[in-house]
Order: sequence, then structure tokens, then C-alpha cells
Amino acid sequence: MGRGGQTMTDIALHIENLSFAYGAKKALDQVGFTVRSGECTILLGPNGAGKSTLFSLITRLYDARDGRIELCGFDIKRQSLKALANLGVVFQQTTLDPDLSVTQNLRYHAALHGMGRKAADNRIREELERLDMFERRGEKVRQLNGGHKRRVEIARALLHKPKLLLLDEPTVGLDMPSRQAIVDHVHALVKQQDLAVLWATHLIDEIADDDSLIVLHKGQIKADGKLADVLQTTECSNAGQVFQKFTQGGGPS
Ligand code: ADP
Ligand code: MG
Repeated sequence: MGRGGQTMTDIALHIENLSFAYGAKKALDQVGFTVRSGECTILLGPNGAGKSTLFSLITRLYDARDGRIELCGFDIKRQSLKALANLGVVFQQTTLDPDLSVTQNLRYHAALHGMGRKAADNRIREELERLDMFERRGEKVRQLNGGHKRRVEIARALLHKPKLLLLDEPTVGLDMPSRQAIVDHVHALVKQQDLAVLWATHLIDEIADDDSLIVLHKGQIKADGKLADVLQTTECSNAGQVFQKFTQGGGPS
């Protein structure tokens, strides 16, 4: 497996014809796309676009009646365990226990994935060191700032070595250096470990030149492809223009 290959094994997430409504309110309308290993795919959309709803369907918090979701080739309904074993998630709202230490939070997650204590502690050390958080492992999560909490959540999401990492607006509310640290870390992981990332955001400055881009607006996909290809087909000179074009009038409605 590697960058540029187009084999089935490169496909970490495949979605077809996915629709979802909250009662009468349509949140996702015939959504379909593919996320590949070794790529950071940015899911760009304004508030209310349907990003978190999509994540709730991929993680099976909600059940989709219409459409199909496959993780590494496994259907998330019919082969849930095998499918979800490939998935790591950082939700929009922090889900750490503030009264437990960093290590305790991570050990709990490792146990849920069936990891023994020794293997878990090795993985915890590895991921925390990579994020420059190992020295803070004994502190209660409550004592950490927002950026450091996010780093712990990313470490936690990676403990079981998933193929696909979902990040739901992981940098919102953080200061610039904290945001940049997370953007850099995730892009490095994608390159070094052939990880597939789906990163939901409404912040266009988080998009790197070689990222893939999916623009979601009012539950519909408006653009999908490598950033350079999307710029070419939409005749835009940067991601900000693409965002404007599809989410603030001027584009197809
Ligand atoms: P995003 O994450 O892109 O901001 P969401 O997926 O949270 O978007 O929301 C998509 C749409 O669905 C919005 O119009 C939102 O108001 C609506 N919505 C989200 N959650 C609920 C819910 N629990 N009940 C009803 N409507 C919801
Ligand atoms: Mg959201």
C-alpha cells in the first residue's frame, strides 16, 4: 500500500447514497464519497452542514436506514465489530473524564479494545511521546488546557492502531500555536503511517496543498477531490473561494 495506488486496500472508508433526517428535517441527502489511506481528507462545511451527523452514522451512534457505509471493506451494519475495529474517533465535544489522569483515561480506552495492561502502557507511552504529552501523563485531565486535552484525545483514538481516524472540528476554540501543532501532527501521521484521516472543519486555513477536499452544504456534497483538482474544476484559486462559492450563494443550490 502506498500513496498513488488505486487498489481496494487503499480505501479506508466508502460511503454510498447516505441520507438521514431528524424527523422531517433532512440532514444528509444522498451523500457518497471515498477516503483513502495515506490521505488527509478535509470535510469542509459551515455550521449545520451535516458533518457531525455524518460522523454519528459512521460511528453507529445513529443507524442509517438509507445508504451504505464500509470501513476497510467491512459493512458497518453487517460486520460491525470488524468494521469498527478499524476506526478511531475524536468527537466534536471532549469525551475525556476530567477527574481521571491522562494515563487512566487512556488505559480505560485500551481495555475497551481488549488490550492487556503491558501492551496498553507501551502504546500509551508511544502516542503520548509523539504528541509531547508523556510528561503530563499523571495529571488530571481537568488541569490541562484545551489544546492538550485534544492531544490526549488524539492519542486515545490511535491506541488500537486504527486505519481511519475521524476528527470532528478538533481545533475549534484553540489558540493558533495549539491549532498548528494538531494540524502538523495529524498530517505527519498520515504520511508516516499511511493513515486515512477524515477531518471535519469550517476553517479553510487547516487545508494543506496535498489534502483531499469534500465540501458539504445543507447535507449535500458540492465538491469532492484532491484540492488541486477541485480548484481546477471550480475555477477557484484557493479553498476559501471554493467554500464561498458553494456555501454563500453563487454556486449550485
Ligand atoms: P455540523 O456538524 O456540520 O455543524 P450537524 O450534523 O450538527 O452539522 O447538523 C446538521 C443539521 O441537522 C443542522 O440543521 C442541525 O440543526 C440538525 N440537527 C443536528 N442534530 C440534531 C438533532 N439531534 N435533532 C434535530 N436536528 C438536529
Ligand atoms: Mg458539528
